[in-house]
Amino acid sequence: LLQLSIPLNFIGFLYREIRQGLADIEAMFNLLQVPTEISNKPAAADLAIGEGNIRFENVSFHYDADRAILHGIDFEVPAGETVAIVGPSGAGKSTISRLLFRFYDVTGGRITIDGQDVRDVTQESVRAEIGIVPQDTVLFNETIAYNIRYGRPGASDEEVREAARLAQISDFIDTLPKGFDTEVGERGLKLSGGEKQRVAIARTILKAPPILILDEATSALDTHTEREIQSALDQVSRNRTTLVIAHRLSTVVNSKMILVLEKGRVVERGTHQELLSLGGLYASMWARQQEASEAEERLRAATADE
Ligand code: ADP
Ligand code: MG
Repeated sequence: LLQLSIPLNFIGFLYREIRQGLADIEAMFNLLQVPTEISNKPAAADLAIGEGNIRFENVSFHYDADRAILHGIDFEVPAGETVAIVGPSGAGKSTISRLLFRFYDVTGGRITIDGQDVRDVTQESVRAEIGIVPQDTVLFNETIAYNIRYGRPGASDEEVREAARLAQISDFIDTLPKGFDTEVGERGLKLSGGEKQRVAIARTILKAPPILILDEATSALDTHTEREIQSALDQVSRNRTTLVIAHRLSTVVNSKMILVLEKGRVVERGTHQELLSLGGLYASMWARQQEASEAEERLRAATADE
């Protein structure tokens, strides 16, 4: 009996170890959102980037065949211009950015960059031309310098510093004893959501790609920091084809084109003024956010009085 219980314990131990290992791998794949099915066509050429014109033509998509996520999405981001996407959570906004970055392939219609279907060119060449500031940034277990320089591995220390300054993260880095050599990530210093986001913004500033995707890039920041970073983001997106997914509508009021996404469909489109006068979903979202920010102001004023 004794003889048997030892191996059984050991098997139990092994089992837990393996199960934990699998859970880690699963967590990692979820973080990276690694798709399993995307591969280059045989002899696919690299994307020949021109001005960076983006088109979604009647795009539909589902992650699982029994649940459609996007339906007949049609829009263009003219080269060097900015298009904003807004809409309730779960509408499919991040999915649109993942399709453009080719984490997944469309299930209907097509996406082109400078006239080339993204499925016909190599994934690496598409990703090389796109800078993405995702909703949830995952940093490497490396130094802050490494994490920023990842945007352009050949960049000098001076360029890394400058990118950090533009992303409003250099003052924070200067307070750390090891500065840019501070290890971050799971085993290092834990950064807040807003700090991680600013590292991702610095990385993207350094990469200076022709195409930018900002997925609620400032959502983890307080209103004050958001305003400051917004000007850095405006700077990087100038003359770059930019898709902005916005949480706070106040950040897109100046966009020439705003798409309102609801349940995977573009239900309204136009400028801020045009959408307000439609009196539809956008107008009601705007009214709700105005009320919320007024309440926030009142709360701030009240606490400041104390
Ligand atoms: P948004 O960015 O507008 O909040 P998302 O594009 O993230 O919306 O998600 C749209 C829908 O797709 C949601 O219902 C979400 O649950 C679903 N979804 C997102 N990612 C996956 C995935 N990897 N597998 C299955 N469903 C997903
Ligand atoms: Mg999202």
